[in-house]
Amino acid sequence: MTMRVAFLAAVCAAALGALPAAAAGVDRLYILDCGHISAADESRWTPGLNVGVPIDLSDNCYLVHHAQGWFLWDTGLADAIAALPNGVTGLNGVLHMTKPKTLAGQLQEIGVKASDIAAVAVSHTHPDHIGNVELFPQTMLYVQKAEYDWPGEGGAPRFKPEHPVTKLEGDHDVFGDGSIVIISTPGHTPGHQSLLMRLPKTGAVVLSGDAVHFKDNWDNRRVPGFNFSKEETLASMQRIADILAKEHAQLWINHDKAQSDAHKKSPEFYE
Ligand SMILES: [Zn+2]
Repeated sequence: MTMRVAFLAAVCAAALGALPAAAAGVDRLYILDCGHISAADESRWTPGLNVGVPIDLSDNCYLVHHAQGWFLWDTGLADAIAALPNGVTGLNGVLHMTKPKTLAGQLQEIGVKASDIAAVAVSHTHPDHIGNVELFPQTMLYVQKAEYDWPGEGGAPRFKPEHPVTKLEGDHDVFGDGSIVIISTPGHTPGHQSLLMRLPKTGAVVLSGDAVHFKDNWDNRRVPGFNFSKEETLASMQRIADILAKEHAQLWINHDKAQSDAHKKSPEFYE
């Protein structure tokens, strides 16, 4: 085989292995600061370890520009917290939450209006992820049916019943070109989901949601005691690991502050 033929064969092999029209429609990804969380005891997330050790968590939202419109992944802590100089405490004082910047203000800074957002998806329905869903009352919300139907406190619905919603039962390719794919990863909550993105320059990235909270928990397959299902969490972590290997993808862990601090934040963006 000549060099040229070998090269073409290699190109064809690579093309066959690629997923359809990878990254066709996506060109920009912004990481937005959607709140800060601190806790006096890390062992809430690392059972039996780091007892009494304080921990800070990042809380990001991710905004993606696609040829068919803007897509928002997670909505963070409620913007109303930004107006409270001392933030708020949650879970009977276990967590302290502050919001140095609003989501609305960060969208404005890059010239994006709420009505420009074509689709929003949340990893799950904990308050640090759904705080601003109603900034986008007309926007289609993508959530797993198992999460949507999971009764909230006192049987309350997780979302406003009038909010447009697509209830998913598994994975979903948001714009149909493989560039933004919701991945079902139950365990942290009944209908938890993660996100696979295929960016033109950065390559494939998986956004964890809360399938895992910290890099160290990922490396050690550690499951917080308060998760809905330990078994499902472990299976979902393995599923993510398989996707990372297949896609040569990076794993961006939403609440890992050290990793998050090393990433570019809006108005800078990834391509
Ligand atoms: Zn969270």
